[in-house]
Amino acid sequence: DIIDDFSNRDFEQIVLCRDPEAGLESVIAVHDTTLGPSLGGVRMRAYSSQADAVADAMNLAQAMTYKAALAGLPLGGGKSVINVDPRVANRDEILVAHAKYIAALGGRYIPGVDMGTSVRDLELIGRHVDVVSSQRGDPSYFTARGVVRSIEVALEACDRSVDGARVAIQGLGNVGLHAARMLAGAGAQVFGADIDPQRVRGAVDEISITAVDLDEILLSDVDVVAPCAGGGVIDERVIAGMRASILVGAANNMLAHSALARDLCDRGIVHVPDFVANAGGLLAVEAEIHDREQGLEGRVDAIADTARDILSRAASTDTDSVSVALAMAIEIVEGK
Ligand code: NAD
Repeated sequence: DIIDDFSNRDFEQIVLCRDPEAGLESVIAVHDTTLGPSLGGVRMRAYSSQADAVADAMNLAQAMTYKAALAGLPLGGGKSVINVDPRVANRDEILVAHAKYIAALGGRYIPGVDMGTSVRDLELIGRHVDVVSSQRGDPSYFTARGVVRSIEVALEACDRSVDGARVAIQGLGNVGLHAARMLAGAGAQVFGADIDPQRVRGAVDEISITAVDLDEILLSDVDVVAPCAGGGVIDERVIAGMRASILVGAANNMLAHSALARDLCDRGIVHVPDFVANAGGLLAVEAEIHDREQGLEGRVDAIADTARDILSRAASTDTDSVSVALAMAIEIVEGK
């Protein structure tokens, strides 16, 4: 998580929603709307407690504020989580009950797809809410494109290029597979792992990646490690054992806790923060809701300029890249 301490955090609004008849227990976290309405996915997941659900919503909403600010978007940060197993029988009823709470916020929170929800779920929510995102398909190509641009910048900082670089991707899902294709196309040697063996077979057949064991992928003997599966995967043990000199991926909140950014820096591992590298999906969603798809690829490619700026400031001040990026994002929000 980006920030571990929940006290003393400035949130505009946290809504705890409950509809016992529908079986709804959910949270909507609106972190900051200085730059625009808060946007963030609707996550559906069974948490062990309501406190865990609140904590997750808050961490994710706060990261969305910084992601939008650094991507230059007129959006704030929000997120909502529905505390239920996504396989629940009366899913639609629960989504509608949640949508009514979103509607009551009068546009301060714009929902999108997230873990456990689909484009179809957002269509359903959209029948009760004025503005919803994620109606024009999957933004993961743009997320992968921004991740690849960030990998290029990190390689450039090490006087290398993608051609001939070895890249290990954890998770060959929507984003990971797109990234693998682009990297292989640019001459990288791609290694990959996924808990789903079919995904691995598909990537081996289509782009001749080298399959790696699940436990080995983050510790592979490569130049770049790219986590594109779950969050919290980079911990002390992984950092101590990493052989790659670059860490850049799509997984939100990939560092198990914020102090690890300093450990990466001390080990000389070049790291573009996830909320910078993976902003391509948010740029695509913003283009959708504001009807400005033209120039989207160029705006995603501009993630490279932000990543380069962050890495150069981090190097010249011996500060970790996450702290540099957070300070820049806060300056953008506060300077508004
Ligand atoms: P996805 O569900 O399509 O893919 C994730 C893949 O990771 C799946 O194939 C899954 O089997 C695999 N996986 C899960 N646990 C694993 C493990 N321990 N080891 C190896 N593989 C594992 O998700 P996605 O849309 O590709 O997103 C990937 C990550 O990027 C997520 O953390 C997501 O929050 C983040 N992200 C995605 C987008 C987007 O546009 N899709 C945008 C921003 C951030």
